[in-house]
Amino acid sequence: MSEPVQTPELFDKIVNLCKRRGFVFPSAEIYGGFRSTYDYGPVGVLLLRNVKDAWWRSMVQLRHDIVGLDASILGPPQIWEASGHLTNFTDPLVDCKECQSRWRLDKLDDPNLCPNCGSRNSFTEPRAFNLMFKTHAGPMEDSAAVAYLRPETAQGMFINFANVLNTSRKKPPFGIAQIGKSFRNEITPGNFVFRTREFEQMEMEFFVRPDEAQHWYEYWCATRFQWYLDHGMPESQLRLRPHEADELSHYSSGTSDVEFRFPWGWDELEGIANRGDYDLTQHARSSGERLEYFDQATNERYVPHVIEPAAGATRTAMAFLMAAYDEEEVKGETRVVLRLHHRIAPFKVAVLPLSKKPELTGPAQEVLALLQPHFMCDYDETQAIGRRYRRQDELGTPFCITFDFDSVDDRAVTVRERDSMAQERIGIDALVGHLCDRLT
Ligand code: ATP
Repeated sequence: MSEPVQTPELFDKIVNLCKRRGFVFPSAEIYGGFRSTYDYGPVGVLLLRNVKDAWWRSMVQLRHDIVGLDASILGPPQIWEASGHLTNFTDPLVDCKECQSRWRLDKLDDPNLCPNCGSRNSFTEPRAFNLMFKTHAGPMEDSAAVAYLRPETAQGMFINFANVLNTSRKKPPFGIAQIGKSFRNEITPGNFVFRTREFEQMEMEFFVRPDEAQHWYEYWCATRFQWYLDHGMPESQLRLRPHEADELSHYSSGTSDVEFRFPWGWDELEGIANRGDYDLTQHARSSGERLEYFDQATNERYVPHVIEPAAGATRTAMAFLMAAYDEEEVKGETRVVLRLHHRIAPFKVAVLPLSKKPELTGPAQEVLALLQPHFMCDYDETQAIGRRYRRQDELGTPFCITFDFDSVDDRAVTVRERDSMAQERIGIDALVGHLCDRLT
């Protein structure tokens, strides 16, 4: 297998594949599209769900010290005042006086050069632009009804700290995990689904004794980095980059980013931050509630410190696609194959009757029904078998099951593996067990 080098050409091929095969469509396309929003199609919704499930599995299902939460997206201004978002969640915005284009100053390669018209020193003074989407809850559009769409899922965990502590029988070190949509009015969205105004996050807040915070920060940096490797990202395309002191958020005493080598350079998939006691202290002060832990064993009362691994589900799904994309020559033709880890692959199995004749499609659909309770399956009976294999390769499906004329008599099917294209004959009775072994 060749390892893909992320280039602008490869990026274009992936964007094209996403549209052609039903991963991602530009949103509101029949109305000309809508401002960097995207819809996940029949295959993309499976990919995205698998990324989120893989995260949930390792963060919640396989652990005894992390519980889940699904908090609301709409929230009152008090949350965002206490968290610091109303004052600090801003990006520096500049306008080009020559061509009127708008830019986020800290993301420009050259802060004096307009990337649109090439003018030098044509920018206005930077102004702080708040990224939160503001709306009104209820029929009155007055200030008492102001609400915000959350720009991160994290605050839902902090404001429910006491609820979770009182109901879950957890004590530090323990975590609260959440997956959900977040909204940021980004100045310059772009690079396909890398930066959008509506996106999904996978975040976990891990509450620890203050004197153990550094230990857990290092633990989560290593654990989260390993998660990407375990799910098929090549180590050569991934790095863990500690922030410089001047990059750190106002609350953070340490942050490291898991970065992927995108065509435009290394860029962030996930940030792991040591947030100290900032969040709980702020919400305790603003709400008047006690947000602390009383350790009965030692008779100590303290405000836990927080380690936060914050990842983007949509951005990570795109990086998985980019890392998996491969092209190879097979019998004089180019084969495009997504070498996705089986847990991330949209379909695990595709059932393909060799011909459209009812004596094959009928029993092939019985095989499909046998597999569906165990695996997400695709079924396809149109076109020549070779072209159907190629289609499944482009979707990243690890196994194709072909039901042919012999299958009717010998009650066996051909199992073709995506990466090696090796085929073997397996009895239908043994098929579920065989695939379970190979997919775990
Ligand atoms: P950036 O510096 O790229 O704006 P950030 O450091 O503000 O990102 P965080 O607040 O740490 O991002 O958010 C955690 C994760 O959420 C990011 O690592 C990223 O994967 C994802 N994310 C943040 N903003 C967006 C966005 N606009 N579109 C898609 N994913 C995003």
